[in-house]
Order: sequence, then C-alpha cells, then structure tokens
Amino acid sequence: MTFFPFFLVWLTAAGDMHVAKSEFQQGVAYRIEARLDEATNVLTARAKLTYSNNARDPIDTLWVHQHLNAFRPNSAWARRELQFGEERFQAQSDEDYAFERFRSISIDGVSITPIYPGAPDSTVAGMPLPEALQPGHSVEVMIDWQARLSTTPRRQGRRGRQYDFAQWYPRIAVYDETGWQTQPLLPQGEFFGEFASYDVRLDLAEDQIIGATGVPVEGDPGWSRGRGPAAVGIHYQRDAYTAKPAEPLGFLTGEPATGRKRVRLRAEDVHHFAWSVSPDYKYEEGMLDDVVIRVLYWEADHDWDEGRVVERAIAALTWLEGTFGEYPYPQLTLLHRLDGGGTEFPMMVMNGGSSQGLITHEVTHQYAHAILANNEWRDAWLDEGLTSFLSSWFSEDHGQDPGWARTMESIASWPARAHAQPVATPAAEFETFQLYAAMSYTKPSVIFRMLREYLGPESFRKGLRTYYTDNKLSHVDENDLRAAFEQVSGRDLRWFFDQWLHSAATLDYRLGAIETRRQGDGWVTRVEIFRDGDAWMPAVLRVGEIDQLLDSHERRQEVEVKSAEEPGSVELDPDRVLLDTDWSNNRWQRSEN
Ligand SMILES: [Zn+2]
Repeated sequence: MTFFPFFLVWLTAAGDMHVAKSEFQQGVAYRIEARLDEATNVLTARAKLTYSNNARDPIDTLWVHQHLNAFRPNSAWARRELQFGEERFQAQSDEDYAFERFRSISIDGVSITPIYPGAPDSTVAGMPLPEALQPGHSVEVMIDWQARLSTTPRRQGRRGRQYDFAQWYPRIAVYDETGWQTQPLLPQGEFFGEFASYDVRLDLAEDQIIGATGVPVEGDPGWSRGRGPAAVGIHYQRDAYTAKPAEPLGFLTGEPATGRKRVRLRAEDVHHFAWSVSPDYKYEEGMLDDVVIRVLYWEADHDWDEGRVVERAIAALTWLEGTFGEYPYPQLTLLHRLDGGGTEFPMMVMNGGSSQGLITHEVTHQYAHAILANNEWRDAWLDEGLTSFLSSWFSEDHGQDPGWARTMESIASWPARAHAQPVATPAAEFETFQLYAAMSYTKPSVIFRMLREYLGPESFRKGLRTYYTDNKLSHVDENDLRAAFEQVSGRDLRWFFDQWLHSAATLDYRLGAIETRRQGDGWVTRVEIFRDGDAWMPAVLRVGEIDQLLDSHERRQEVEVKSAEEPGSVELDPDRVLLDTDWSNNRWQRSEN
C-alpha cells in the first residue's frame, strides 16, 4: 500500500513538469552588410551579431542555423527525401545546389572554428566561445560568409535574376529554459527563432526591386520602377524606426560600383529576416491605418494586379486585427516567389499564388508564428493547425463555405494507422510527410473548431485576444494558449488538450435502440447511445427538432426526449462538429410506412 501514495505524488509532479511561461528571452542584434553578385549567384556578407545572455546559467557555445545547407546533397533534408524516393536535392549538381559557407568567425576578437555535430548535415553549426558567457553579459560575433540559393526552389530559390532569400544568414538558434533548440532542417517541420533587431545593408544591381522583412530606411528599393496599375503614392516609411547612422562593418566600403546601389533595411522584434529581388517585379501598395501593405508580383500575374492582392491582404489583416489585436509591425509585404505554396516570415509572405485562401493562411501566420512564436519542430499544430482553422473561420465570416464537411469526411476516412500518432508529436517523428501535414494542419484545425463550439465563438475569440495580449512578440507553447482559453472561460481545459493533442484516442458515438411512444398529447423518444472510441466530448442529440446536450462519460447511456410531434429522425452531433471516426452510425430515420 505504500506504493500508491508515492505513485500519486509522482503523477502530480509529472503533471506540473511543463515549463512555465518563458522567464527570459535572449538579446540578439544583427548588423549585416551583403553584396549579391549575379554573375556567380553568390551573396558575400559580413555580420556583427551581438548576443546577450539573459538566462540564469552560463553559455559555452553559440548555435546557429545555416538553413540553406539543407538544399544540397547529403543534408539531413536530402537524405530524408531519399528515403521516400525523392532525389531533387540529393541529385543537385555543383552549379545548382544551395550553400552557406563560413569564411571566418571571430568572437570578441578571437578567431573561432565552427563545429558541425550533425555532419554531413550542416544546417546546425556551433561556435565555441573563447570563454563562457555569463548571465547578464554579451558577446560580439563577427562572421564572414557566402551564400547561394538552389535552382530547385524550396521556400528559397533562384531563377534568372529573381533571388528568393528566405534563408541566407547564420540564424541564431533559440536558447530557452530547456536549452538550445537546434534541429537540422527537414521536409517535415519548419522553424523556431529568437527575436532580434536587424540592420541590413544590401549592395545590389541598380535595377533590382526588393521585397523584405524590413523597412528601407535608406536607399532605393526600386518600387517606383516597378510601379503597377494600382500604385498611387509610395510610402517608404523611412522613419519607421529611429535610425541611428549605421556603424560600418568595413565590408561595404566607399560608394557602390557603377550600376550598383545600396539599400539599408531595418526591422525590430522579428525572429527571421527574409528578402527577395527581381528586376521584373511589379509593385503595388495599400494602407491599413498606418500599416503599409506592399505587393510584388510578376508581369503576367493577372490575379495579383490592380490592387487584388492588396485588397485580399487588407481583408485578412483587418479580420485578424479584430480577432487578436493590433498588428505591431510597420509594414507587410506579399510577393510572388519561385516555389509554389506559401511561407510566412515576419512582415513578409512569400507566395506561389494569389488566392484569398492562401493569402489568409500566410497572413494569419503573422500572428500565429511571427508575433506568437512557437517551436514548429515540437508543436507544428500550434501555428499550422490554428492558422488552418482561422483561415476557415475567415471564410465562414465572409459567407464562403470553408469545406468543414469535406474535411471531416476526409479525416474519418483515414486508415487506423494514420490515427495512431498524437497530434502533438514532434514533426520529425511522423512516419511520413503526409502524416505530418495531416496532423499539423488538418486534424488540429478540426480540434480548434470543436473547442470553438465547446466554448462558444465569443469566448474563443476572447481567448485568442488574451493569448495575443499576454504573449505578443515572445515565444509561446501549448500552455500559453490553454491558459488564455481557461482564463476567459473559467473552465479547466487540460482534459481537452491532453485528449486531442497528446493521445491518439478516437471518438465514435453510435446510436443504439430507438423507441418512440405516445405520452399524453405528445411523444417520448427513448434513445440508446454508445461511446465506442476512448475519446469523449459533450455531444448534441437532435430528436426531430429538439436538441439535447449529452455530457455523460458512460460507455452506454439512455435518454428520453419529449416532443409534440412524432420525430422523423434522430441524429447525434447533427452539425458535425465532433471528430467522430464513423458517421454512418450517428443517424436514424423513421421508415416511410
Ligand atoms: Zn502555414
């Protein structure tokens, strides 16, 4: 009997083991000077990275991501794709693959040799510090490097004179309560970043037109050259940030060469800095209050121009500001990238298309990832699932069918094997890319819909507002989101999050015997309901026109519903909100004789 109390104590301790809201975030400031040489397609650059240790413990190595090194032979990415018969990066030739190569690194003046524990993958690099970085102290890291994009686009890429620099610089890894968050870049799973300030000076061919995370505080981004039909005036936002004169790093010295120009971009409170250039970009812009919406598209894009994409982005951002709160950045850029699909970066969306659905999805990531920054390797569902759900909600609010019925049917038709891993599985541990996508986007979108129906839309919206207000511009995890919904609803939601995200339990309600008899002037219908799966949710039982909420946890229950008319049908969860794995046993219809 002594075992039992110990077991209880252990359970309680384990339950409390989740890490509380981040106690600290590291301080990071980048100054970068870079020159793009189009003849060789190589970007040569120098950065000064100032890193402040706000943690309680000393740090002996700084870790950075060199994401471009994923898009070349023998990277962890290429080898993972090869397992599924995909050779696109494993087979890239010397001229075609992407790279990021250090030329020199010095920390506080001491020369450093980087380490690559994941070799041959080189997307995670360590910089051993000459001496441990104590709490409250900072170091200055000077890095010279070269970067090239791959000709096969994947988020980043190059073709002709268009260069999509989604990745291009040594991106500092996150250091938090659980240590360094380093992971090789893989097809399944995206990013996690440290908030930082950026002061970036680019040396480019004079005719290049640029879209970027930052605001062009100096130099010509080329927008007036690319002015499209709906571009009236251009708001450069030169003073969006109090721009101190840039302290030169000694890489871009003197004046730019003939035919070249320099553009200086700044951004604050962003965990990634992306940019893209093409001399053929068309440029349009619009405003939402003080926020400038910039759109860069191709000459032949007839669904982007005449303000179409500007309008769609404004529609999405307006709805999101109403849902979460004010957009905290000065601008938002949407541009037509070489790769299909879309990817979110802070203040920047790189899209392969122009549909409202894609725009809404990627703009929603400004909140669910850029501003509320989760670890996408660990909790992809937290931004992808929420974003997928919110895009559908946006459609509902705009009178369009978000296709919930199709989504529910598709999930119900997945083979049992697809339901075997919980949603909150680390991205890299899903058996296949398809399963990762299904469990990070599709299933959690329906889980969020269940939560909205359970809490009520107003309470759910308040929860999102609280989540935003309490956590904006910081790292977030599941606990932050759950705490916000619990706070506004006054309900304990741990069971909901545990059941739907951390277990693979399935839900299957089923109707059993149904009997209808007369009673007085009306009718009484007795309904037997079985709960076959291990999951539980409150469910609506509709008998004729009468709805009754079932909240019993029993495997079998019986209810009686009184009605004036003889009911013609009985239906469990008639609005199809629940993630029920078998719909065929939820409905009963009186036979017509
Ligand atoms: Zn997404």
